[in-house]
Amino acid sequence: MRILVTNDDGYHAPGLTVLEEIAAQFSDDIWVCAPSEEQSGAGHSLTLNQPVRLQKFGDRRFAVTGTPTDSVMMGLREVLDSPPDLILSGVNRGANLGDDITYSGTVSAAIEGALAGIRSIALSQVYNGETRDTDAEFVNAREWGPKVIQPLLDAPFADRTLVNVNFPPGPAKGIRVVRQGFHDYLRGSIVEGRDPRGHRYFWFGLHAIEHTLDHGTDLEAIDDGHVAVTPLQLDLTHYSSIDTLGRRFEE
Ligand code: MN
Repeated sequence: MRILVTNDDGYHAPGLTVLEEIAAQFSDDIWVCAPSEEQSGAGHSLTLNQPVRLQKFGDRRFAVTGTPTDSVMMGLREVLDSPPDLILSGVNRGANLGDDITYSGTVSAAIEGALAGIRSIALSQVYNGETRDTDAEFVNAREWGPKVIQPLLDAPFADRTLVNVNFPPGPAKGIRVVRQGFHDYLRGSIVEGRDPRGHRYFWFGLHAIEHTLDHGTDLEAIDDGHVAVTPLQLDLTHYSSIDTLGRRFEE
């Protein structure tokens, strides 16, 4: 089984090493193709206005001077001579839950894999304040990653679907398959400051996003100390609105 591994925190991210170690439990044909720099929040963006360079660090190790999506595209089109059986994206440092998913470079790398018809899984380690700057936060990813991936290897994946996995920060109690939740729209902090030359800047913060915990969601599962597994689909159509909206445009 050939596995392509990527990580939106960049080629040097500790979570990439963690995921390589997890992948090594399933295969010895592992290829790394990851952004050369951190790309968190890049979403499903492509680099179109500048060249993208491929940096080779080993027979099966590559960095791409671009986004997570660029990395998967380069991996599939330029690096690998035959398609991988599996794409693993992560382990991200931080949650990719609820409607953060569309901002996520981690999930978007898996989306690119799903678009290419390849079984793709995004993995993220949720952290809390105490573990944020240490390696300890990947404890659950290391322990539970293989247990989550194993059943997904031969589970049916419908076309244009992928699986999003989040590991809780504390000791995990188990695994739940849940739907995507939603944050209340109190999109946190934009921090304003002055740079050393006196010019005003703004910096988007990620904290203090509040949410109401709906039952059966990824947010609730993590809050309840479980690994959250959410199947996602790329079809964003809101089907029940097709008729109601269509009637608005009838002659
Ligand atoms: Mn990230």
